[in-house]
Amino acid sequence: MYKYISAVDSFRFYMRVYRTDAMKIESKDWKIVCDSTNSTFHPLVFYSHAHSDHIPRKLPKTEIISSHITKSLIKNFVKNFSETSFYDSYSIGNTSFEQKSSGHIIGSTALFIDSDEGKVIYTGDVSIRNKGFLDPFKPEKCDILIVESTFGSPEYVFPSYEEEIKKTQEQILEYLDNNVPVVLMGYALGKAQMLYHAFSDLSSNVVLHGSNYNINSILQSENIDHSIQAASYTEAKEDNLFTKKGDWILFTPLKSGRDPFFSFLKNKYGAKLFAFSGWCLSSNYKYRMNVDHAITISDHADYSELLQICRECDPDQIYTVYGYSERFAGELRREGFTAFPLSKQTILDSYFNKSVNSN
Ligand SMILES: [Zn+2]
Repeated sequence: MYKYISAVDSFRFYMRVYRTDAMKIESKDWKIVCDSTNSTFHPLVFYSHAHSDHIPRKLPKTEIISSHITKSLIKNFVKNFSETSFYDSYSIGNTSFEQKSSGHIIGSTALFIDSDEGKVIYTGDVSIRNKGFLDPFKPEKCDILIVESTFGSPEYVFPSYEEEIKKTQEQILEYLDNNVPVVLMGYALGKAQMLYHAFSDLSSNVVLHGSNYNINSILQSENIDHSIQAASYTEAKEDNLFTKKGDWILFTPLKSGRDPFFSFLKNKYGAKLFAFSGWCLSSNYKYRMNVDHAITISDHADYSELLQICRECDPDQIYTVYGYSERFAGELRREGFTAFPLSKQTILDSYFNKSVNSN
């Protein structure tokens, strides 16, 4: 009934890793669905973190594994929270399901499954960089690794985090010393907390816009670390902060500098725009986004770090998910790994039959 799919060691694993409407890991005795954005019932689900592309809008009424912080965030993002059961860890027979930091955003975890059939790690979105405020993911030897591949293409090797931060701090201070305000743009959950950690102390006039303010308020109300004390854009405007002072920092979600709001900030106050993203490595990103500075800081692992994770986990099988999944699986096969992409709607057995020998 359970097909084996390993080319290397066919009889060792009866587990299946596959993706249809959601990503699933299935054994003889259990099945777990990871980071599904739909509400279909499954007996056991895992949410690695609270980004909207990893959780549903309506929770399934089932057993859920997630971290305490992810649970607190989900509580604020869905309407039917009380109908669900959350667990830090879980066990079925001889199989244990445990979480450890994935280093991606606040509360993010990787899932470690230990069973008689082997050890499986699902990284979710992952980072192994030490950014000083999140525990990075620590690779462990395993049999099956399911690894994200957002930046799984060789051109995406990020510069040093510390150097990017230092360089940006100096640039921001130079602007503020000359009464030139700055706008720091990054996704409100995850990237924003990284930016607050690095830059919010550079001015006493810190303002949060829109969803940055809303997420920060949620962190405060849930007693989650990494919130800051800062005025909302509306409050700051009512206080005339923007006209009284020239040394303010406004944190906003990442959008094009052509957006009318950012054009207004540039024209009215002479504000300088900083975009923070791993995609800043793409050529022309700064011009496409129409910002003054494009800073390559990401909450994901870059290509070389993804390779490092795979080498240190040293699994028999690797499945790549999200982003450059096909490309990264190909690179891994060239390195000698048995690797498959878990693209949406791809069932691995058919992929394996078609393409395992193509590289
Ligand atoms: Zn994410």
